[in-house]
Amino acid sequence: MKLKTKIILILSGVFFLFGSAYYSIEHFIIFPSFLRLERYEALENLQRSIHAIDREIAHIDSLCHDWAAWDDTYDFVESLSGYYIESNLAFTTFDDNEINMLYILDNNGTVVWGRIYDLETGGQIQLKDFPGDALPRSHPVICRDIASSDLSDVTLKGIIKTEKGPLLVASRPILRSGNAGPIHGNLIMARFLDEEMVAGLANQTRVDFKILPQGSEPAGLHDMTPAQDMACSIETVDDYLLHIYAAYPGISGDPAFLIRTTIPRTIVQQGFATMRFAFLSMLAAMVLVLVVVIFLLQRTILKPITRLTDYTQSIGRTGNFSQRLGIHPSDEIGILATEFDRLVETIDHQTSEVLLINERLKEDISRRIEIETALQKANQELHDLATIDGLTQIPNRRRFDEYLALEWKRMTREKKPLSLIICDVDFFKHYNDRYGHLNGDDCLRMIAQVIGRHAKRSYDFAARYGGEEFAIVLPCTDEKGAMSLAESIRKDVQHLRIPHDTSSVAEHVTLSLGLSTLIPGQQLNPDTLIALADKALYEAKETGRNRTVVKRQTPS
Ligand code: GH3
Ligand code: MG
Ligand code: MG
Repeated sequence: MKLKTKIILILSGVFFLFGSAYYSIEHFIIFPSFLRLERYEALENLQRSIHAIDREIAHIDSLCHDWAAWDDTYDFVESLSGYYIESNLAFTTFDDNEINMLYILDNNGTVVWGRIYDLETGGQIQLKDFPGDALPRSHPVICRDIASSDLSDVTLKGIIKTEKGPLLVASRPILRSGNAGPIHGNLIMARFLDEEMVAGLANQTRVDFKILPQGSEPAGLHDMTPAQDMACSIETVDDYLLHIYAAYPGISGDPAFLIRTTIPRTIVQQGFATMRFAFLSMLAAMVLVLVVVIFLLQRTILKPITRLTDYTQSIGRTGNFSQRLGIHPSDEIGILATEFDRLVETIDHQTSEVLLINERLKEDISRRIEIETALQKANQELHDLATIDGLTQIPNRRRFDEYLALEWKRMTREKKPLSLIICDVDFFKHYNDRYGHLNGDDCLRMIAQVIGRHAKRSYDFAARYGGEEFAIVLPCTDEKGAMSLAESIRKDVQHLRIPHDTSSVAEHVTLSLGLSTLIPGQQLNPDTLIALADKALYEAKETGRNRTVVKRQTPS
């Protein structure tokens, strides 16, 4: 795999891990914090809507107090004055104070005066829990301990669930102005928590909330416990809306109704959009960084390394050390390239030197070979000069001795016969005397040629043995074969017809030949063979010349 591909893969892997970590942080840490913030805001809104209802109850309670701790009301319970009714308890009192109900009770729970109006129509309304004649002492809005001097013990306010909807109600003891007692009864004021009022409160608080009957929240919602220990449930309607349900407690402690607050999921939406933008920006930044890093790596590292690699491969392929990289040594790669150049230069220099030395060596070797060849030739010539007879140009006595010793050993090993013929020109002294020494030399040359011709096989050997004597060594030749050859030589010399009128045996030059044959053994030596041939020659001379005599070894 190429270095560039490896680097791209490694960087991509690192960025992938970084992206995954970033995504995980967004998903598991940042996004949940937005959800918590959203939930916190939802609860705040719920609290505001609850407080708005609480304020309304407090308002009615305050109004109720004004009416209950008033001398006129106190006296009215006893006098039942028509004037009080006319001047204070007209419909306009209800309408102006936005209250639906006003009940004045004596200490027995008897309704001294009581009305419930529909403020829209002005008509009276009947409620089961508020009969027109009397309220039982067990009624939730009647205080039981009228003997208590603590005003808070005899004050009641809150919500009562009725068949016409939830009712904001306040009940105060009837006292003289300045809260002076004794308690003369109860004054009860109430107002329906209807849709119009809820809409007004929602507008006032800028919280979108509604009043619903108890038990109408969707099942399976996530329960929470916000401030004031009020249980609430959160319903995620969709990506844009959230519903929060809470039960509002009634005056007797039981839930009176449900408040459903609706809030837009602005925080989560904005948070999500921000997170997505941040993630995409980070992705774009990573891609940009990847491209820039690869571009810079390509320029600063990969390109010089590729050049270095190509250069090395080229040297390996071509063996050409003359090229150079020439990269400026601004960093480690540059230093590496410069050092490499220097190394190649050294190798180039040394290679040139080695080539030069090789060239010189070759020249020296060829010169030495020439000298050796010349020397060998000279040696050969010297040896030839030393072993070739100058007059007849056949091997001389020295060479004869060497050759005979060699063949003696070979025949000893092979146990084969070795024959030796020694020839001597008859009356040659007389020939010289008669025809002159130069003619004598010519005669010797002609005889040498005849003898040389008879040494046909590669290992047959003819030599000038002495003055006018010749010898023929015949390896692997028995006596019969040697005899035949000797006779052939004798006859051929005779056939040369070299005149010799001072010879006593013929008119022409003749030869006498002595022959001996031995199978060489450890107890014998070449001299034995020579001595036998010599004796044979002597006998040939003695018995009339121009003949061949064989001499055998006498058995010991
Ligand atoms: P025989 O028949 O008993 O051999 O008698 P011969 O005269 O041949 O023998 P001898 O030994 O008495 O004489 C040999 C002669 O050969 C003597 C010498 O002058 C002659 N001679 C030896 N070498 C040469 C040579 O190189 N050239 C010439 N022309 N003559 C030579
Ligand atoms: Mg002789
Ligand atoms: Mg002789």
